[in-house]
Amino acid sequence: MITAHLVVPAAVLGGVFPDFDMFWFYFIDNRAIHHHRYWVHVPGFWLLLGAVLVPLIAWLGRQWLPAVLAFLAAVFAHIGLDSIAGGIMWLWPFSTQLHSLIEIPARYDQWVLNFILHPVFILELIIWAAALTLWLRRV
Ligand SMILES: [Zn+2]
Repeated sequence: MITAHLVVPAAVLGGVFPDFDMFWFYFIDNRAIHHHRYWVHVPGFWLLLGAVLVPLIAWLGRQWLPAVLAFLAAVFAHIGLDSIAGGIMWLWPFSTQLHSLIEIPARYDQWVLNFILHPVFILELIIWAAALTLWLRRV
């Protein structure tokens, strides 16, 4: 059985999966800690999971491997892009410090305005424009 048709849906799911923790962050945890500290945003967790899951899938159900790899690659792309302006625990389990490439100063009460009005948001717009262009030019 070929499961190639699952690669793109798996990648889309992996690309958004880490931010599902926002439901826990807002509705369960009452914003007690930064959501990038939850396991879905911790690269070390995904490395450990992948180290177990990928060989297991390759052994037991090789046809699922492309979808699993696409999911994991998209999770890492998400976490990598999150670490540009948001902290990620890249050194977990050795450190719980959040690392980011740049710091967004808190100039406005609404946290989202701090990101939207910062020049790094142009990178986000470029990514959206590239995605839209690829989508419009799809064959
Ligand atoms: Zn995220």
